[in-house]
Parts: sequence; structure tokens; C-alpha cells
Amino acid sequence: MAQLSSRITSINGDGSDGWGVFYRARAMTAAGEDVTELTIGEHDIGTDPAILEAMHAAALGGHTGYAMVPGIPSLRDAVAARVTQGTGIPTGRDNVLITPGGQAALFAAHVACCNPGETALYIDPYYATYPGTIRAAGAVPQAIATRAADNFLPHFSVLDAAAARHGAASLLINSPNNPTGVVYDRQTLEDIARVARERDLWVISDEVYDTQIWEGTHLSPRALPDMQERTLVIGSMSKSHAMTGSRIGWIVAPEAVIATLIDLATNTTYGVPGYIQDAAVFALAQGAPLEEGVMAPFRRRRALAMEILAAQSHVSHIPCQGAMYLMLDIRGTGLTGEGFADALLDTHRIAVMPGESFGSSTAGHIRVAMTVDDESFATALRTLCAFAQRLAAAA
Ligand code: PMP
Repeated sequence: MAQLSSRITSINGDGSDGWGVFYRARAMTAAGEDVTELTIGEHDIGTDPAILEAMHAAALGGHTGYAMVPGIPSLRDAVAARVTQGTGIPTGRDNVLITPGGQAALFAAHVACCNPGETALYIDPYYATYPGTIRAAGAVPQAIATRAADNFLPHFSVLDAAAARHGAASLLINSPNNPTGVVYDRQTLEDIARVARERDLWVISDEVYDTQIWEGTHLSPRALPDMQERTLVIGSMSKSHAMTGSRIGWIVAPEAVIATLIDLATNTTYGVPGYIQDAAVFALAQGAPLEEGVMAPFRRRRALAMEILAAQSHVSHIPCQGAMYLMLDIRGTGLTGEGFADALLDTHRIAVMPGESFGSSTAGHIRVAMTVDDESFATALRTLCAFAQRLAAAA
């Protein structure tokens, strides 16, 4: 076989990826065991049937040919109107590229912002694909460590030093955050904006969880002074509308950036299916009531979790302000996140993600996805806390 490119063979980097527990849980489930899976960020509900009916009608109506590469005008307009309303920043059709999900948008954004070999910064802990996405785009990923004591928020001085040391081209941030559930506060975002302005960075702002806010408010860095010109916002209907499988998302950016991204899309994805885009227009037109319905289960489970966690003292948690995850500190058990997750799966058939799968900053933590029905979720969380208590007592 001829040699594959180093770019593609190095996408995953090296070292343990912390996904062993996840694959083990999947194998146990496949073998018929009753495992409570609190691992990945997938809703326990499907896409609303009304959205599927709109998709069906669009497909039968003939929207099955090549769709316009940048996205159909009605969807680009709907996204622009949504962003204008949410941020107060006037945003038009030419600021929007429709993409096959947020993941494709993350890749395209890094291709747009980074020359081959240039450094792309991202915050540790991070959504699992970030470093691989950056490598796939030809750039060099550089993690910025954060601390549990700071709720995993980055410090100005650390960001500034990293940007200067590596001559970075971009900084990728994510709020509400996966895996921590933290919503970035205004001061943190202002610090990020200051570093970006002073060090001439692009900010790639992953806002795919922007409808899932339990405490505080979502602020986009694009809405801060002079940030519109250097921010690329990543959006998606995966989380907000339970449309993970439809692969529909977007990038909001300056018009000149979108123009180049359309060239990239023409030569890579060639757009998103028209019937999916029609369904997305329908879904967005349903407004807040539909989005409320999709997020309500997480809001309820988050409230349940706060009660359960408050009634014990062996597991502490990072404030769960948004998104569908809890980040729990299990260092009191003496185990690593991976050790705890393995033992919990073996002992109680409950699967969670080790903090180590999201970077080194969340070592000694576990991420719990609130993605099973309320009763199973509450039972699993109580069992997890009791398990931690027994381990701590034996430690
Ligand atoms: N960003 C974050 C933080 C995510 O958690 C996810 C999905 N889990 C994505 C981006 C990508 O989502 P999608 O491609 O489904 O829009």
C-alpha cells in the first residue's frame, strides 16, 4: 500500500483516549446486560415528529436535488435573525454558512483561521474531537490547562502567555461547556476578547449548547466590542432541537470569512440536503416552545441532581450552569476518574465518562450525562454517591 499522509494518520494523536469505559459499556449492553449509560451527549428523546413531517413533505415535494452550497436563503435568514435577536449584533444572510452539523463547522472554521503548522489554542478540559479536528485542519493543537478550583475557566495571564509563546492563530472556546457544564461569565469572555485583540487571534466560539442554560446567561464573545470581526460562532440544531442525526449546523462569521468558507464547502461537503434544511427552517420557526420542550428534561434532572448531591458529602461538583452534563469530583475516593468509572461499571452497571477523556485538567473527575429518564437517572446518581462513600471510607 502506498504511504498515507501524516496528516491523516496523526489525527488521533497518541496516548490513551479514556474511551475504554464507554466501549466496554456498549459491549455489555450489546451482550444483553442492563447498563445505565450516562456517557455521551445524546437526548433520550427523538426529533419532534412535526419536524420529521416537515422533512418528509419537503422530500416528497422534490427538495432532493443538490441544494445551494452556502445553505438555502430561508435557513440562512432564519439563523441570521436568531443570532441578531440573541446578541443584538446585526447579522445577515451573508454572515451565515449552513454546515452538516457543528462538527463540520469546527473543522471548516480551523481551516479558515489557521495556516498549516500554525498553533490553534483550545481549553482543557475539552470536547473530545477538538484536538483531532485541529490536526485534521492541518494546524497544531495546543491545550490550555485550567483548574477545578476556578471551575475550569481560563485565566487571562495563561491565555496571554500561551498566545504569545506559540504565536497562535486561533483560540477555540465552548460555553455552555462540554464537559464541565459551566457557562462562561462576562469577565472571562472579556479577558478572552482582550487576548484576541492584543494577540491578533481568531476566536472560534462553540455555542452548540446555547439553549441549555440553567443559571446565568449565555453571552457570545461576538457581541463584545470589536469582536465581530474576529469571531466565528459555531451553531447546531443537534442539541437545541434533538436533531443530532440530521447533521445540521452553521458558522456565523464576517462576510469575507463566509465567502472563503463557501469555497471550502464547494470543494468538500457540497452543502446540506435541502429537505433537512427545510425541516430546520420549520423547526426554527416553532421558536422557544419547541426548544423549551427539548431542554426541559435536562432542567428537571439537573434539579434532581442538585438535591441528591446536596444530601451527601463524598462527591462534590462543579456548578452545573448549562448543557446536559454534571462534572463530579471523586478525588475523595482515592481513585482516578478512569479507575472510578471502571469500578462503577463493574460493580453497578452504571457507565460514566472518566474526566481524563476530556484532558488532564479533569483528572480525578467523572462526567455524568443527564440522558436517561428521570427515575433511572436519580437512582443511578444515588447509587454512584453511595459507591463513592464506600470507597472513601475504605481509602
Ligand atoms: N461541540 C460540542 C461541545 C459538542 O458537545 C458537540 C456534540 N456532542 C459538537 C460540537 C458537535 O455537534 P454536532 O456536530 O452534532 O452539531
